[in-house]
Amino acid sequence: MSVPYEQLVGQMREEARGLEECPLPTQDEGTNERNRQLAVSEANYRESKSEDQRCGTCSNFDQSAEMLMCIQGGPIESGDDEPGYCRAWNFICASMQVCNSWQARDGDALPIEAEEI
Ligand code: SF4
Repeated sequence: MSVPYEQLVGQMREEARGLEECPLPTQDEGTNERNRQLAVSEANYRESKSEDQRCGTCSNFDQSAEMLMCIQGGPIESGDDEPGYCRAWNFICASMQVCNSWQARDGDALPIEAEEI
């Protein structure tokens, strides 16, 4: 028998509250939004036009099981099917977005295409 969705979310919130290592922005909407706005103003956080260069392929994009528990168990609606945590700007970002701090996971800091900056 499957666990009802609301019960599952409730359990995740309980577990997230117990995770001291959850970054504050995953648990506090105001902090998350302030950091998101900084990413917009300082690094042009925006929708990506490239499959290869987006948050989902960035080395700063944290989708570890622990982080997803913090995000999904926290109070913030990401509005994205594949949310993750940006370790560069410290906010919950969306896999299909990008910013000028994008870095390849293999360590090659491929520059973001000029027309996208
Ligand atoms: S550094 Fe930029 S591209 Fe990388 S995860 Fe953060 S917002 Fe997305």
